[in-house]
Amino acid sequence: MIWTLFGTLGVVIVTVLAGMAADRRWSLLPRKENLQLAAGQRPLLTGFGAGAAPGTAIAATIGEIERIRRKQKCPRCKISLDSAAEESVEHEGQALRVLNFTCPRCGGMRSVYTREEVSG
Ligand SMILES: [Zn+2]
Repeated sequence: MIWTLFGTLGVVIVTVLAGMAADRRWSLLPRKENLQLAAGQRPLLTGFGAGAAPGTAIAATIGEIERIRRKQKCPRCKISLDSAAEESVEHEGQALRVLNFTCPRCGGMRSVYTREEVSG
């Protein structure tokens, strides 16, 4: 009689363990990281175009940087991006100026890497 009880318990435990193993293997339940990514802000950059990364920084004079800043548009909303705080970073011994932008409508972010061109 006692063995029938243990047998039933054993079946339950094996079933639970198999379920956990299956979840770990095929990810049946949504993972926390995926949910956070879906709800958070996504960067607007889609490739590695000019200025998209430190390695492709745009050489620009102060005047040209001003022009770059004005022509930024959100690829989703087609409206001008707001200028956010600038950053200075160093890449392979060169000082880069990072122009940051945010879309006032969708909140998308974009960074443009520029390196100052010394004229004259
Ligand atoms: Zn937008």
